[in-house]
Amino acid sequence: MALRWSAVVARRKSLIKPVHKQFFGTSRPVKNGEFADIVISGGGMVGAAMACALANNALLRDKRIVLLEAGKDTGEFVVPDQFSNRTCALNPATVRLLSSFGSWQEIEGMRCFSALRMQVWESCADAMITFNNSDMSEPLAYIVENDVILAAIMQALKSKKDRVEIRYDTKATAFDLPGSGDSEEAKMPYVKLTLNDRSVLKTKLLIGADGTNSDVRKASGFHTINKDYDQSGVVATLMLGEGVSNTTAWQRFLPTGPIALLPISDTMSSLVWSTTKEQAKNLQALSAESFVDAVNDALWHDREKNAIAGRLLDGFKNVLNSVLPADGEGVRQLPPTVIDVVQNSRASFPLGLTHSSQYVRPRIALIGDAAHRIHPLAGQGVNLGFSDVACLNDMLTKAVSCGADPGALTHLLQYETERQRHNVPVMLTIDSLQRLYSTELTPVVIARSLGLHAVHSLPFLKKFIMERASV
Ligand SMILES: Cc1cc2nc3c(=O)[nH]c(=O)nc-3n(C[C@H](O)[C@H](O)[C@H](O)COP(=O)(O)OP(=O)(O)OC[C@H]3O[C@@H](n4cnc5c(N)ncnc54)[C@H](O)[C@@H]3O)c2cc1C
Repeated sequence: MALRWSAVVARRKSLIKPVHKQFFGTSRPVKNGEFADIVISGGGMVGAAMACALANNALLRDKRIVLLEAGKDTGEFVVPDQFSNRTCALNPATVRLLSSFGSWQEIEGMRCFSALRMQVWESCADAMITFNNSDMSEPLAYIVENDVILAAIMQALKSKKDRVEIRYDTKATAFDLPGSGDSEEAKMPYVKLTLNDRSVLKTKLLIGADGTNSDVRKASGFHTINKDYDQSGVVATLMLGEGVSNTTAWQRFLPTGPIALLPISDTMSSLVWSTTKEQAKNLQALSAESFVDAVNDALWHDREKNAIAGRLLDGFKNVLNSVLPADGEGVRQLPPTVIDVVQNSRASFPLGLTHSSQYVRPRIALIGDAAHRIHPLAGQGVNLGFSDVACLNDMLTKAVSCGADPGALTHLLQYETERQRHNVPVMLTIDSLQRLYSTELTPVVIARSLGLHAVHSLPFLKKFIMERASV
């Protein structure tokens, strides 16, 4: 499906349909409503971080905050010996947010690993790009298991029990929302939620952090753009052969999708291999030995090389080398050899893009995957969600400090504008990269390999890209 990005950025007030009542179940309210100033629907990494940020916001200390999580309470978290197959590369902005409420310190006490360098290359040409901080002392990203991130946030949240009430096994089954514009309904001073236990909860602000199939987004009637990449992301925990330090994140673009290895220990890496649904299914069915062979083949094989692109790239490199100083740090390194896959660590997830054209309406705000879901090739998904948290927390601080209602549209719109200005270009870039690298057409291979090598040779451009990926 073609994306109409020009239409994406436009504010579409007119598109807010008067969906004032939406039912996601058959139960009807039977109890009288209770009240919370702010309700967060969804206690995943992003929703839990939102609850933590609000709980630590001194200006909101008199506000009642409730976090609704549809899943069960899994109890106290003990870091398992075996690594989880779900990991995220966290950028410096995320580390700053998590540090602000003590969760980063919890993560460091549990388990995380630094990626000091990144190498991206492709199978159709010899072009590549490397990233690292110039003296390699500061990590480019931290690789952390999703379970560890969530547990660390929940740990910090537990110390704020007096500020946030967490309700597990709980979700809204019906939403009564204020309308938009100047209508009388728009002035309804709360959102009314009917919960799955048939109780009623009213709130001044409902934050939807309920993931990519967000009920809050559906109830709000927001227009969304959806794209199915017709790909799955195969994840697994891999054991590496080399005894050298494992501090590089590797990503190779194949015509079927990128394969990435993220370092999680001195000898292990986390695999994210985006590929066709069919190949993903086959990969999961392979024996451990054949799976390891398939991973090594994907990282090392030469059979897709385009000879014309190769010759043009060599000429281009010679020209650039004669005018630009040599960059010793940007030399090509060989990827590691995978020797084994941890038993039962293989899984796959469908990959798609979802963009909600609006993030807010009166008394509603979306954050995280509820607002935007992207391809994992740049490892940005949850980082965008955490930046939504930081921004919405700032906007609510401003609203409350000038005596405004936290659900008032004026401040929520500022949140939406700021985040869409950041998120939409990131989504557009990632979607374009995904399409650019999914073809073997010679003119495209030539253009992308010359472009990639040019960026690799220009330190200021690389610095710009790294800065954009860290905020
Ligand atoms: C293969 C793969 C690799 C990835 N790698 C990276 C990476 O390296 N870096 C990165 O930044 N991102 C990465 N991502 C993306 C990242 O995993 C997501 O962006 C992130 O999980 C979104 O978090 P979230 O809290 O917004 O949503 P979710 O994780 O979907 O959490 C939603 C929560 O809401 C709850 N819920 C759902 N419905 C309701 C309801 N009606 N009421 C109450 N609760 C509800 C759910 O139980 C869940 O706990 C990757 C994704 C994939 C698929």
